[in-house]
Amino acid sequence: MTLDVQSLLVVMMINMVALSLAFPAIMGWQVSPAARWAQGAMLVQTLGWICLVFSRQSPALDPLLSAASMVGLCVGMAMLWQSMQGWLGPRPGGRLVWVLAVLTPLGYALGFGHYPFRVGWANTGLALQMAVVCMALLWPGAQAGRGWRLIMATSLAALAVATFWRGMLGAFYTPLYPSLRAPHPVNIVAALLSNLTVVLNAVGLLVAWREEAERALHTLARTDSLTGLLNRRALHDEAGTLIAQARRHGDPLSLLVIDVDHFKAINDTRGHAAGDRALCLMAGTLQAALRRGDLAGRWGGEEFCVLLARTAPADAAAFDARLRTTLAARARAELGFDLGFSTGLAELQAADADLQPLVQRADAALYAAKAAGRGQLATAPG
Ligand code: GH3
Ligand code: MG
Ligand code: MG
Repeated sequence: MTLDVQSLLVVMMINMVALSLAFPAIMGWQVSPAARWAQGAMLVQTLGWICLVFSRQSPALDPLLSAASMVGLCVGMAMLWQSMQGWLGPRPGGRLVWVLAVLTPLGYALGFGHYPFRVGWANTGLALQMAVVCMALLWPGAQAGRGWRLIMATSLAALAVATFWRGMLGAFYTPLYPSLRAPHPVNIVAALLSNLTVVLNAVGLLVAWREEAERALHTLARTDSLTGLLNRRALHDEAGTLIAQARRHGDPLSLLVIDVDHFKAINDTRGHAAGDRALCLMAGTLQAALRRGDLAGRWGGEEFCVLLARTAPADAAAFDARLRTTLAARARAELGFDLGFSTGLAELQAADADLQPLVQRADAALYAAKAAGRGQLATAPG
C-alpha cells in the first residue's frame, strides 16, 4: 500500500471545508461564546489548510500562502483553546497559546528563506500550542464529561509528537527531510494523524456543545424564571444535602419561610409588573445576604424559603432583622414604595427526615406572625 502525503492533505482539506459548513448548520448561529470560538477555530484552520495545500501550486505565491497557512493553523489552535476555556471553565495557558499564535507565523515568515529554521520553528510552535490545548482539555475542575476530553487530548498529543518530530528533522537532519510532501514516514504519520484529529476533534466539539445544552436545560429546570432563585423542587433536593451535613456534624440548621405582606395590594394598586419587580428585589436582597453554603429559593407566589447552614435560631433571627432593614431601604430607593414581610422560623429537629416537616413548622410560625400583625418574625416551638 502506498500513501502519498499530498492526497492525504487534500482529503483532509475537503473534510475540513465540509465540517466548517456543517458546524453552523448543526449548531445554528445563535450560540454561546464557546461554540462560536469552536466554529471560528474550525473555519480559520480550514483556511490555513487551503493555503497550505495550494501553496506549492505556484512558486511565486508560495511564501505568502505558506505564511498565511501558518496564521490559520496557529490562530485556529488558539481559538480552539478559547472554546475549551468557554466550555470547561478557567484553564491555564491562555496567554502562551496566543503568544505562540503570533510568534510562530511571524518567525516563520521572517525566516522563510532559511529552510531548517522555518521548519523547526513552525513545527515546534504548533506542537507547543497543541500541548497547551491538551493541558486545557485535561486540567481538573471541569464540569464536563471525561470521554470526549480524553479522546481529543489523545489525538492532539499524538499529533503534537509527530509535529515536533517533523520540526526536529527539518531543523537538525535537513537532508533526511526535504519537504512537507516528501514520502518520509513522519509526513505520512503526521498526515494520517491530522486526518484522525480533525474527525475526533469534530466529534468532541459536538459533544461539548450538546453537554452545554444539557447543562442549560438542567439549570432551567431548577431555576425560578422570574427571580433566578432555586425553584421549589431544586430547593427540596439541595436541602437534602444540607440536612445530611448538619446531621453528620451535629450543626444547627435554621429555616426561614418568608412571605411578603399585602402583596396582593401591590399587584392591585401598582400593577402586576410592579409586583414582579418587588419579587425580584426581594430575591436579589436575599441572595446578597446569604453566605456560601446557605440556600434560598422561591417556594411559590410571594413566598420564599431560606436555609441557613450552621445557624442557630437566635442567629437566624438576627439575619431576618438585617434583611428587613436592607429590604426596607432598597424598596424605598429602587421601587418607590414600601415592601415588608413576615417570617416563620423553625430549627432542624432530630426527627425531621427531610425539608417537609421543617417547612410545616415554619409555616405555622409564619401564620402566627401574620396573625400578630405582620412585619415580624415568629419562631416555631423547638
Ligand atoms: P398577606 O399579607 O396575608 O401575605 O397577603 P398577600 O396579599 O401578600 O397574600 P395573598 O396570598 O392574598 O396574595 C398573594 C398574591 O401574589 C396573589 C397572586 O396573584 C400574587 N402573585 C403570585 N405569584 C406572582 C407573580 O409571579 N408575580 C406577581 N406580580 N404576583 C404574583
Ligand atoms: Mg403575602
Ligand atoms: Mg403567600
